[in-house]
Amino acid sequence: MMTALDPRQMAADLGVRLEAEYPLARLTTLRVGGPAEWVFFPATPEQAAALHGVLREQGSDPRVIGGGSNIVAPDAGVRGAVICTAAMNLPPEAVGGERFRCAAGQAIPGLARWACRHGRRGVEFAEGIPAQLGGALRMNAGANESCFAEITETVLLAASDGRIEERRVAAGDFAYRESFIGREGRFVVGAILRLPEDEPEEIRRRMLSFRRRRQATQPLTERSAGCVFANYPDQSVGALVDELGLKGLRVGGAEVSSVHGNFIINRGEARAADVLAVIDRLREELIRATGRAPRMEVEIWRERR
Ligand SMILES: Cc1cc2nc3c(=O)[nH]c(=O)nc-3n(C[C@H](O)[C@H](O)[C@H](O)COP(=O)(O)OP(=O)(O)OC[C@H]3O[C@@H](n4cnc5c(N)ncnc54)[C@H](O)[C@@H]3O)c2cc1C
Repeated sequence: MMTALDPRQMAADLGVRLEAEYPLARLTTLRVGGPAEWVFFPATPEQAAALHGVLREQGSDPRVIGGGSNIVAPDAGVRGAVICTAAMNLPPEAVGGERFRCAAGQAIPGLARWACRHGRRGVEFAEGIPAQLGGALRMNAGANESCFAEITETVLLAASDGRIEERRVAAGDFAYRESFIGREGRFVVGAILRLPEDEPEEIRRRMLSFRRRRQATQPLTERSAGCVFANYPDQSVGALVDELGLKGLRVGGAEVSSVHGNFIINRGEARAADVLAVIDRLREELIRATGRAPRMEVEIWRERR
């Protein structure tokens, strides 16, 4: 048993949707992964913080999943609790001036389109990132010379007493594809973003140009988890994989994309084991070529018993 309390009772008490033995393949963009024992779907930041507090009080260390666009989930699935933020996809709320309070489950493509319609700039760089806000902050997702750190004023975190703690962003909180959220193991329930006014037509024009660039450089119609490795400080991993002739490398149903060398795509019936085998092979070749181990960008979930 995950906790002293029955998860079904806990979910009922808090009014949170709960699924048992829920396939992680359905929650990840790579579409691999076996069942998660319990998946909670809180609908608001308040509910999410309260749920997190109760789980922690019961000695559980829940995993968190947002858009599942940066996770390789294990074929055997995972035991224990997972909190999925997908049901927290609420409209942004104006909280004064150019500040907007957004829930952690806010889907990023939808947020970018919402901001464009409302003449708010800042998030158009991210329209093509299939993430939710919590995951985008945790990873400090970025593209087109911009990233989430640049538009975030305050991160709303689950506090240990089940309430929401506000943390104003400070120097050092975010870096390239990582943040204090991962370093400190925090659970994000929302954020206050700064989105200044701009001409909707101008924002749309920038968004279109970013979209075209992305369509030309990423395998967007395939199932993937985005870039597998963070780029080296001085070298693009995708370009290096291409130079090394590794595009198309395949194990089972997992294959290095022919469009972007840092993407592994699920050709159909890929298992996590296939994806991990391709990752291992790429890592070996990158070390052989550069003498340096690349840092993982995707997160590999391991079984935790
Ligand atoms: C087609 C495609 C294109 C992509 N393009 C880009 C790109 O241009 N730039 C870029 O940076 N990335 C890109 N990615 C990768 C991915 O979208 C980002 O890493 C994104 O930030 C992951 O967000 P997510 O909500 O999917 O997080 P998930 O994959 O669900 O989770 C990622 C990590 O964040 C944690 N997490 C999730 N939600 C929370 C929360 N609320 N609180 C605390 N921790 C949380 C998870 O536990 C996990 O550790 C791309 C991926 C795909 C599939």
